[in-house]
Amino acid sequence: MIQFSNVSKRYANGFDALKDISLHIAKAEMVFLTGHSGAGKSTLLKMIPLIERPSAGSITIDERPLVRVKRRKIPALRRDIGVIFQDSKLLNERTVFDNVALPLLVSGAHHPREVGRRVRAALDKVGLLQRENDFPVYLSGGERQRVGIARAVVNRPKVLIADEPTGNLDPALSREIMLLFEQFNQVGVTVLIASHDLELIGAMDKRIMVLSKGRLLADQGGLGGA
Ligand code: ADP
Repeated sequence: MIQFSNVSKRYANGFDALKDISLHIAKAEMVFLTGHSGAGKSTLLKMIPLIERPSAGSITIDERPLVRVKRRKIPALRRDIGVIFQDSKLLNERTVFDNVALPLLVSGAHHPREVGRRVRAALDKVGLLQRENDFPVYLSGGERQRVGIARAVVNRPKVLIADEPTGNLDPALSREIMLLFEQFNQVGVTVLIASHDLELIGAMDKRIMVLSKGRLLADQGGLGGA
């Protein structure tokens, strides 16, 4: 489903963040990306929703080369890719409901009743239906991250990308968040998670790709491990 072929990334300052990366992630696979800070994990993730573009090589999603995605089609591509960050990046002056509704309102294509239905379905999946009218400051770190996940899945994306989603959480909450990702994966969502927490990702028994200084050092386990 996601194919990187000889992808390199040189930032404007001349720094080579990714060097000749080739990998394939199958549909409905769940994969971890690990490596030290600065290894290039975020850079690799950012290529998928076209936040960054490769300097060399090519990326395809569902056989479609990203280089051919026209600027006006980028929002549609991003609706198919849910993105979750370490800090859930919620709007503090908006309720949980409004935060989760945001991607639907931005795309503007939905009747208010449909927005309500989809937001509540997403909140239900992360176990926070009863908190829809609360403001983020009244939530715990784990709950905030679950709201971030609800917001990422409200457009029913085919792919979920998470960059250190448990970076601010204790081990028990981190494990809960990973199990939540696994639930989305079990219903067919392709999941790619960057994490430096080897203990946590080792316990998940999935494919693990290791980046070091911009190179793919190892790729093991799971369905499509090459
Ligand atoms: P990781 O997520 O594994 O910590 P990153 O992808 O964030 O790694 O960063 C990889 C390297 O690229 C780091 O050395 C970082 O400083 C550098 N880098 C990241 N973004 C930029 C940028 N916009 N311009 C220049 N260098 C960058």
